[in-house]
Amino acid sequence: MTSMAPALKGVGVSPGVAVGPVALMGGEVPEPAAGQAPPGSDPVVELAASRSALEAVAVELEQRGAAVGGDVREVLDAQAMMVRDPGLADLVETLTGQGRLAARAVWEAFTTYRDVLAGAGEYMAARVADLDDLRARTVARLLGVPVPGVPDPGYPYVLVARDLAPADTAVLDATKVLGFVTEEGGPTSHTAILAKSLGVPAVVGCAGATDLADDTRVIVDGGTGDVRVDPTEEEIEAAHAKVAARKAARGHSTGPGATKDGQPVSLLANIGGPADAPGAVAAGAEGVGLFRTEFLFLDRVDPPTVDEQREAYEAVFSAFPDGAKVVLRTLDAGADKPLAFLNLAGEPNPALGQRGLRAVRRAPEVLADQLEAIGRAAAATRADVWVMAPMVATAEEAAWFRAQAKRQPIDKAGVMIEIPAAALRARAVLAEADFVSIGTNDLAQYTFAADRLVSELSSFQDPWQPALLDLVARAGQAGRETGKPVGVCGEAAGDPLLALVLVGLGVTSLSMAPGSIADVRLLLARHTAEDCRRLAAMAVEAPDADAAKERVRGAATGVDELGL
Ligand code: PEP
Ligand code: MG
Repeated sequence: MTSMAPALKGVGVSPGVAVGPVALMGGEVPEPAAGQAPPGSDPVVELAASRSALEAVAVELEQRGAAVGGDVREVLDAQAMMVRDPGLADLVETLTGQGRLAARAVWEAFTTYRDVLAGAGEYMAARVADLDDLRARTVARLLGVPVPGVPDPGYPYVLVARDLAPADTAVLDATKVLGFVTEEGGPTSHTAILAKSLGVPAVVGCAGATDLADDTRVIVDGGTGDVRVDPTEEEIEAAHAKVAARKAARGHSTGPGATKDGQPVSLLANIGGPADAPGAVAAGAEGVGLFRTEFLFLDRVDPPTVDEQREAYEAVFSAFPDGAKVVLRTLDAGADKPLAFLNLAGEPNPALGQRGLRAVRRAPEVLADQLEAIGRAAAATRADVWVMAPMVATAEEAAWFRAQAKRQPIDKAGVMIEIPAAALRARAVLAEADFVSIGTNDLAQYTFAADRLVSELSSFQDPWQPALLDLVARAGQAGRETGKPVGVCGEAAGDPLLALVLVGLGVTSLSMAPGSIADVRLLLARHTAEDCRRLAAMAVEAPDADAAKERVRGAATGVDELGL
């Protein structure tokens, strides 16, 4: 581990402050160099080191098993037995006796075992992955490098990683993670989305973060993007006060969203399926502003039936109180969400190809079935059901979509604004739509010609970019002129400071990860509509995203007090 700087800087993507010890997410453990130990090394010492590392891994597995209990305990106890296997110990003894260093001896012993298992039939072969994990854990200890995978130090920690993948976060114990810091990733990265859904602070794109040693104390400010390393007692005290303030304030954050002077701003949830609905209700969402319906279609060879879809939609509608608004986005296939039965294979540029509404226009029966399922579910429940089409570029597309939707008993049919053309001509689009909802994730991607999936381009994905705000302003202006609702449902809506700016630009509803709703509600209630317009003007006039953020943070009320 290298020495560390007193402060690191990244991009704050989930607000709040966290104080705690670092636990590093381990990467791949390197294979220890082959060959004999250097002169002067002692086989007895190497054997003792190997034994104690193996024993430490076994004990750790047992302790983790005991803490969780049930099936997990059985699995981990069985793994501990593998680590204590006498045959393995004998092999390590032979190898250290032949002059291998401890890490190399352990590596070779496990590898011998694994090769035997791999050739011993299907059942045993399934244990190979377990052995690889145990080898990595033991060797990591001997080499002094982080253990692979999500850490479990047994106490609350700040998770530091190069980046997080969905598979990593699936096994994360959310009650132990105080905050996230990643070296890579941007505002729409998996880390940002996860942190917001958990409501914990996160800083991404933070250079040098993975050089921090385990257990280093840090203060993570998910609002400013600052990560303070080895803070002073006073700094820790101030940070704890912020954590407490945020906790207390969030406890009192209830009711519909509104500015300080009573202008309503609906605070809605982004959901990906019925399983997300109870969490959204619990977080105080007034309804759903973006129901991503792709989950029904992914990993399938044929589209789901009308009945299958109706059931899923009804489950979401009935999870919310009667009359709650639920905005469904019709199937958004293509580019980052490809579907085998709909999208063209081999397009040179899928993000600029037959995606979103364009894809279903080529297969209108897929959209017709979906709208029918939505119409039936709407008729069977009391939700206020709206539908919107993704990836719309022109007013003609909006008119075509509305005509399809109006064949069903669906109250409102609108479109998403995710393509700059639609933002620039928002007035014409709104003439053909009941509402619009701005998808800032794709709108940023298309405005800056920067792939949202390329982590190195993540600064372009920052929704504070003044050019992006100009497009939002254009849509907001069109909304004011036509008297029609203009929502935002990209990640931008869940940033409390940016939410003020969006409202100031004319946005009438905000849809976000449920974990962000309380913060947005609190900060909005501290500002009048006029304050929001003033902050919006400051952001739009800023030269770049960082300056926009800094100016608004400096001018907003209650940021420190609310611990944001
Ligand atoms: C967006 O593009 O901002 C959006 C909300 O849609 P998705 O992230 O699902 O593409
Ligand atoms: Mg999108």
